[in-house]
Amino acid sequence: MSLIDRLDASRAWSEDERLVLEQVRRVANDIIAPNAARFDASGEFPWENVRALNALGLNGIFVPEEYGGSPMRYRVYLECVRMISQACAATGIIYATNFHGMKPLIDFGSEEQKQRLLPVIADGGLGSLAITEPTAGSDATGMRTSFRENDEHIILNGGKTFITSGDVADLLLVFGKWEGIAEPKAAISALILEKGTPGFEVVRLEDKLGHRASSTAQIAFTDCRVPRANLLRNPGDGLRILFASLNKSRPSIAAHALGIARAAFADMIGYTNERTQSGRRVIDFQGNQFLIADLASELVLVESWLDHVAGLVESGAADFGIEASVAKMRASDLAMRMALECVQMHGGYGYVKDFRAERLMRDAKITQIWEGTNQVHRQLIGRSFAARN
Ligand SMILES: Cc1cc2nc3c(=O)[nH]c(=O)nc-3n(C[C@H](O)[C@H](O)[C@H](O)COP(=O)(O)OP(=O)(O)OC[C@H]3O[C@@H](n4cnc5c(N)ncnc54)[C@H](O)[C@@H]3O)c2cc1C
Repeated sequence: MSLIDRLDASRAWSEDERLVLEQVRRVANDIIAPNAARFDASGEFPWENVRALNALGLNGIFVPEEYGGSPMRYRVYLECVRMISQACAATGIIYATNFHGMKPLIDFGSEEQKQRLLPVIADGGLGSLAITEPTAGSDATGMRTSFRENDEHIILNGGKTFITSGDVADLLLVFGKWEGIAEPKAAISALILEKGTPGFEVVRLEDKLGHRASSTAQIAFTDCRVPRANLLRNPGDGLRILFASLNKSRPSIAAHALGIARAAFADMIGYTNERTQSGRRVIDFQGNQFLIADLASELVLVESWLDHVAGLVESGAADFGIEASVAKMRASDLAMRMALECVQMHGGYGYVKDFRAERLMRDAKITQIWEGTNQVHRQLIGRSFAARN
């Protein structure tokens, strides 16, 4: 058993959890992984993979039972994200985005909202999280999308950019500023936008380096009328909802990055054990063993840290933002480094499309950019040690 197999074996799953993870592993290996190169090449949305996950009812593991789900521990969800992303990073982020967009509805929605909206997701609907705007990226508080109250409706104007599944989602969690609240941060509010709402438009889809099968949409709202009943909590509660949501989506982004890192590590080990040069296997050169030792150690340490963060979430801890930042930053830096070294260890074959190493490298890069760039996470972690005067 390898170091990584032993880490996997050390995780204690209940019988029900093990069954779900087995099914996800089967779908990942038999359907999602074999489709990955084709969807990457065509850039087509991977509906076949989404349907295979929905056949397992996989959104249900994060939706409460009262609203059609069959919930499991947060770490089971993270393990699913990791396994799916290891098979196909684009499909992994589509699945994870359902959680990122809809967890705030679960945590902050009213009983009426959850009864009405969550069954759509439990049944396999797609969710989306719309924060970023052309002039508001790392500083999301600079957003300009406006929410104006009008009788029983909220009128949306503005637009969002780089929205994962923005064109295909059934429900979008949209952040904007409430007209009439003067202080910009205090004006941030959140609502659920349902597919087909008049005034909602997909402006364009991005042509990307990696994650080519996941859609990334620029969307616009022109006098888009949303029932007031879709507002989460009260006008001005958006920033609190945003921060609480990011704390739970960042570990999920870490799990996604670790899926890419694991795929790259597995390919590197497979190839260097087979390829021979100068009469020796590539893995037998000591310099390469040192590199593999560094990467394997980092992988098990980051995964163990993510297990720790999962424990904090499951225990109901209120304050784990810095821990989540550490997981996101280290997992994504590792995914990028692992994918680069995987290409390197494949020599020239790493640079051509016969092997998936080059795809893993393209897929890895965005993990250092989204859900807070790694510069921003370094700033958050570093600042947390600064004494307050
Ligand atoms: C494929 C893809 C999918 C995405 N999916 C979504 C989604 O589903 N929903 C969504 O809302 N957004 C999504 N995003 C947006 C993503 O989260 C942003 O791109 C990211 O937050 C960075 O914002 P920006 O692109 O405007 O870069 P900027 O914020 O303009 O950053 C430019 C550079 O400046 C640096 N910088 C900025 N501020 C600081 C600082 N304080 N200290 C140090 N350096 C700093 C950054 O690190 C970066 O290197 C997605 C983006 C992509 C490319």
